[in-house]
Amino acid sequence: MEDLKYQIDLLTALNERLLASEKMYRHIAECSGTLFMYFDYKCTPTKVDLVGPWDDKVGEKIANHPYDESYMLNLLFDEDQDKFRIHMLELEREGLESDTVEVRSRNKRYWLSCFANVTYDEDHNPVEKIISIKDITKIKMNSEELEYLAFYDSLTGVYNRNYFVRKFRDMCEKADSEKVSVEIMFVDIDDFKKINDSIGLLFGDELVQEFGQYLKGFNGEDVNVGRFGSDVFVIAIYNPCGQRSSDVIYRKIQERLRHPFTLTNKTEMMFTVSVGVAEYPDAGRTALEVIKNAEIVLYKAKERGKNGIQYFELDILNKFIKNISVEKQLKEAIETEGFQLYYQPQYYAASGNLRGAEALIRWPDPEGNGFITSPGEFIPIAEKNGAIIPIGNFVTKEALRTLSDWRNKYHIPMILSINISAVALEKENFVDNISHAINLYGINPETIELEITESVFINNFEDVIDKIKTLRGLGMRVSLDDFGTGYSSLSYLKQLPIDTIKIDRSFIETAVKDDSSSIIYESVIQMSKKLGFETVAEGVETKEQFNYLREKNIDIIQGYLLGKPISKVEFEKLLIRQVP
Ligand code: C2E
Ligand code: CA
Ligand code: CA
Repeated sequence: MEDLKYQIDLLTALNERLLASEKMYRHIAECSGTLFMYFDYKCTPTKVDLVGPWDDKVGEKIANHPYDESYMLNLLFDEDQDKFRIHMLELEREGLESDTVEVRSRNKRYWLSCFANVTYDEDHNPVEKIISIKDITKIKMNSEELEYLAFYDSLTGVYNRNYFVRKFRDMCEKADSEKVSVEIMFVDIDDFKKINDSIGLLFGDELVQEFGQYLKGFNGEDVNVGRFGSDVFVIAIYNPCGQRSSDVIYRKIQERLRHPFTLTNKTEMMFTVSVGVAEYPDAGRTALEVIKNAEIVLYKAKERGKNGIQYFELDILNKFIKNISVEKQLKEAIETEGFQLYYQPQYYAASGNLRGAEALIRWPDPEGNGFITSPGEFIPIAEKNGAIIPIGNFVTKEALRTLSDWRNKYHIPMILSINISAVALEKENFVDNISHAINLYGINPETIELEITESVFINNFEDVIDKIKTLRGLGMRVSLDDFGTGYSSLSYLKQLPIDTIKIDRSFIETAVKDDSSSIIYESVIQMSKKLGFETVAEGVETKEQFNYLREKNIDIIQGYLLGKPISKVEFEKLLIRQVP
């Protein structure tokens, strides 16, 4: 009896412990966020147990239903259960392997990480099976999104910069081993800033998006499309035939751009693109070098007036490299005021008297080896990077200082011409600055002539006209330089508030050679006279030209024949000879 009681107590205690440990395991399973399906094949019918965080209703249905694997899976995953089932069977066969399964249910996609473990008896009949299923949809989605962000441009869906470069590198490597080439095209929307200003950033983005999606259509086995900047796309073409496939793509793009892009606000937008193309390995030793060079020729395409394609040429690259070095040296020269002014005399054609001089900037080499480069080369660079402003300030200051110096020393009436860049003239404080300098050096404004070119009128015609009127109101003279090289139309000349016209030197060369050029030259002089302007002939190099000009009644002559540009010291010698 004692014995039996002991046995019962022991069993009860054991049972309690079992219940407690079962509770604990259930609890752990539920907390694990994993569903466990336990199949007990020893029972008939097979007993199925579900443990874990699962829809209660599903659990109930399963519990109250005789075991049927496919029914169960049906409940859990409405569609696609066959796929799931096959997958689970495969897992079983392979033993312990786990895998990720993509399941579609009610149009929703989710991913399950599944793990199956089966035990068998000696005759290889299954005894028990546990399948653990974990819903990893969220993790998967996040990593897919991260992957997307890592490879793609979120606005257009083409490759982003990093990934494109990686792809391009791979293409170049492959091209190396197959001894072929890879082309890269930079495709840049022309005047995108203006487009943005007119339709707003949001629609600007939409336009880029539309265009990017169009370009994405070129993606393929041998073509990769990427986006590098706001409106800059790149297309890499693996080129096994060695043909210029970029040409074909360019023509297709041109074709597309003939029709507008329609934005969501129903605006129809048209635009053009500029394209730069470089080829690996011709245009560079590394993939990155080729990319860089394609970008450089893109800028060349822009410079050449946009809406065009530019292929890589060594000359373009060399010029670019030279410009960069000039830019760097310019910066130093500005800091050290490393420039000089030369002066080229101008004479009245009729009397032969000195009219004055044109101040021309020179950039001497600090080591004394002549000049670093000519103004024709460095002035345009300085105009592009803004260095023209401090350079212009130096020129004005130096010219006025010299003029006041000469006036005090030689008392000769003379007009000093100063070249003014369009970039400087556009600055708001230009008029104030120059009139301040004139006052500072006590200069009579009537002895100053500002030389401007027609380019100043391109952007802000009215504004520039107002400024010129103010300058002339202060007494200064204004002359139109390089006449005949720009957009000059004779009819617009009469609207310009100027004093002098300088006919570009290219005209005098032909005027003495052929009759039709001569007629043009002569009519320009006539018209200029009628409009009340003084006329200067530039670049007069020969006696023949000189006689011709005198015969045609030109007012003023400037050129190598009568005097090259010379230093301040040299010009003083010339002035001394003028003193009566
Ligand atoms: P530009 O204003 O048309 O200046 C006349 C250019 O023709 C000068 O070249 C002068 O040296 C050159 N020249 C004069 N007579 C003859 C001739 O008989 N034959 C030939 N072949 N050339 C002649 P430079 O000094 O090299 O200047 C080139 C251009 O650089 C200038 O053309 C002007 O646009 C710009 N520049 C020069 N100095 C300045 C400056 O101080 N400020 C600005 N903004 N631009 C300047
Ligand atoms: Ca000039
Ligand atoms: Ca000129």
